[in-house]
Amino acid sequence: MTDQPRQEYDIEEIKRRLPFVELMVIEGIEMRRSGANYVACCPFHGERSPSFTVHAARPTHGHCYGCGWDGDIFDFWQARHDVGLGGALSSLASLASVPAFIRSGNKSTRHKVPQMTERADERQEKPPLPRMRALKKEEIVALAKLRELSAEGVAAAAEARRVGFCMWPQFQDRHEGGAWRPFHDAGGCWVVTDGERSVAQFRRLDGRAFIAADGHEIKAWTKGSPRWPLGAAEMGDRAAVLLVEGGADMLAAYHFLWMFRRLDRVAVVSMLGGSSRISEAALPYFRRKRVRIMMDEDLPKAVPGHPEKPPVYPGREAAARWTEQLSDAGAAVETFSLDGLTRNDGERVKDLNDLAVVDESAWLDGELKAAFFDFDF
Ligand SMILES: [Zn+2]
Repeated sequence: MTDQPRQEYDIEEIKRRLPFVELMVIEGIEMRRSGANYVACCPFHGERSPSFTVHAARPTHGHCYGCGWDGDIFDFWQARHDVGLGGALSSLASLASVPAFIRSGNKSTRHKVPQMTERADERQEKPPLPRMRALKKEEIVALAKLRELSAEGVAAAAEARRVGFCMWPQFQDRHEGGAWRPFHDAGGCWVVTDGERSVAQFRRLDGRAFIAADGHEIKAWTKGSPRWPLGAAEMGDRAAVLLVEGGADMLAAYHFLWMFRRLDRVAVVSMLGGSSRISEAALPYFRRKRVRIMMDEDLPKAVPGHPEKPPVYPGREAAARWTEQLSDAGAAVETFSLDGLTRNDGERVKDLNDLAVVDESAWLDGELKAAFFDFDF
């Protein structure tokens, strides 16, 4: 008998956090108000007038008066995605941001990971993060094209649940007692995040920026703690870690690890920005790991207000800061510099995503490849 850890879920909590109507919206099925209830055209039989109903008195349940379909969100997910109860549980727990209990032997513990604290003081029922779903095949292809990566690499990140889809910015307020209302200029986004939704970064799938209410453009939105390294809690028993700075760099890391078949041996962790220190709570995950920091090669920046001071290199400063923290935490750390590499279009390589568009010949001398595979330090 093994004491393989098993994941268990709080079913009532998932149902409470993910009302049937919200799940329908996530699935792209628009529901409209009909008296106190919500109705839609039934996704299980062809019809032109809506008979699929969610009753106000029973928000966790759907019923179709046309074909007789009847069930809760778990039944719905199984029927729609052709998966078993286990698959429905893990997908809906993730959508509802309800962490699993890990049961091993007779112990049952929840992952001890900081929870999203954004707007915790506002109305409690507000979703801490928008509902996300897995990327569809065509979205994986579009994202790969946008970032100049392989669809297989992006698919590997999606399969590891490091990247998903949602509309963002998603909610501004709630209709009286009903669903949350979309924010202006919401767009379909690719979201990089972790299993516990400690931190997430949103960017538009169409490559556009978001236009804020005051008219300025926002390229990416990060929610949650930027100190929490995305993927830290999901390294598993992999001995080696690629630590990258941005969300797109994380996709690029999956792209390379897929390309050279090292996904089962090397974990990917992203800081989603260069300015923060690693959360103290996350440092134990790095103990005894071999961590290679893929350093961003930013151009030097003058110190504001101090023209006499030497310019700073933000990527190098970040790498030095994380190296110190990780070494103190018991990790072996090495930094890999992208300095001196050139993209296909002649631009200098600034980050790992740029490395996906260097000339193939750059890989031939073995040095670049070694950056991903040699962890003998
Ligand atoms: Zn029906």
